[in-house]
Amino acid sequence: MTAITETEPAGFVEKAPLERYVPPAKPSLVGLSRAQLAEALGALGVPEGTRKMRVQQLWHWIYVRGVTSFDVMSSVSKDLRAALDAHHTLARPEVVAEQISVDGTRKWLLRLPGETAGERPHEVECVYIPDTDRATLCVSSQVGCTLNCTFCHTGTQRLVRNLTPGEIVGQVMVARDRLGDWHEKQPLNADGTARRLVTNIVMMGMGEPLYNFENVRDALNIVADGEGISLSKRRITLSTSGVVPEIARTGDEIGCMLAISLHAVTDELRNELVPLNRKYPIAELLKACRDYPGVSNARRITFEYVMLKGVNDSLADAKALVRMLKGIPAKINLIPFNPWPGSRYECSDWEQIEKFSEVVFNAGYASPVRTPRGRDILAACGQLKSATEKLSARERMALRAMAMTE
Ligand code: SAH
Ligand code: SF4
Repeated sequence: MTAITETEPAGFVEKAPLERYVPPAKPSLVGLSRAQLAEALGALGVPEGTRKMRVQQLWHWIYVRGVTSFDVMSSVSKDLRAALDAHHTLARPEVVAEQISVDGTRKWLLRLPGETAGERPHEVECVYIPDTDRATLCVSSQVGCTLNCTFCHTGTQRLVRNLTPGEIVGQVMVARDRLGDWHEKQPLNADGTARRLVTNIVMMGMGEPLYNFENVRDALNIVADGEGISLSKRRITLSTSGVVPEIARTGDEIGCMLAISLHAVTDELRNELVPLNRKYPIAELLKACRDYPGVSNARRITFEYVMLKGVNDSLADAKALVRMLKGIPAKINLIPFNPWPGSRYECSDWEQIEKFSEVVFNAGYASPVRTPRGRDILAACGQLKSATEKLSARERMALRAMAMTE
């Protein structure tokens, strides 16, 4: 059921979580900060003087080697390994299905525990999108979403709960597990660094990351840690529908790249497409972007704009878009709308997307159109929805056919 927060402006609907996260009896060490790991070691009787060194060892085994069992931690004493094994695991979210698209995109359906042990578990999706010069992992931050954008499939789902840092980092670990992308297994680049199969991360899966700020922050700081997974923050992009009060903190406390789901050039239309706009209108959102810590021509903000036929795709819209972003170091991503069964919009015609794109390009923005990926497995933007509300085989076939005929 959808909970409506009474203090919100009229007509604005923000969902409250239905559940809390309840840790299992034997919690995983994945997703703990160094301080939390030291605390866990303290609870096992490891003397304070050696904890820091032990944390370094664990960090290396977990985030550089990607091990899934304490047994193989040869630098850790046998006794400590046994104690760790008795009280903890190195579990990541359980993979319940893997789908591989005709274009190489992979989607993993991950199972997460529900609030009550033994009752219905939850599912989120994580998508891997290989490209010529990069391979991007699209990571989820919530089961469902707090918000309810009208063009987004996830938005139609209830918000079940926020993901924990371990469940967010765990998605990156799962991708590396499934792709065989741990340190020692990859061939080396000319400069001696390992060639990675996951080079970029986008927080663009299920959920609104800035409604789960602390957990997303802690997870991304682990992913970027130079002694672990070590992904540069320039290669991590957080996409938000515009939670203005958290934008400055995103720059200060995470320091990753920012993407804004803009999608409209007037408050009237944005109120309808992204109802959060009623709370934080366009002018406030753009001000937060201008003030984003670290923004520069070398670190531009990406503005996402979904192309909806007859709704936001006129050339007047394109010109207004370019005008309104003047003075902000920006990139523009025009996203062809990915339809889903029951959606009330259609994707703009390709001809119209090209014309719109030309206006944007002529204003100095490079390659503004992103080709949709993984449509046949419902892995494209805004199509993520957990299998609990799965599509029928016929709906999937229809989508697959659509992807093939493009
Ligand atoms: N909640 C965050 C991140 C997840 S959505 C946000 O809204 O930014 C990731 C991107 O996919 C957003 O830009 C979102 O607007 C876009 N999107 C959602 N539904 C879509 C759809 N059906 N077709 C194309 N893009 C969509
Ligand atoms: Fe949530 Fe983003 Fe979808 Fe809006 S577009 S409903 S914020 S996931």
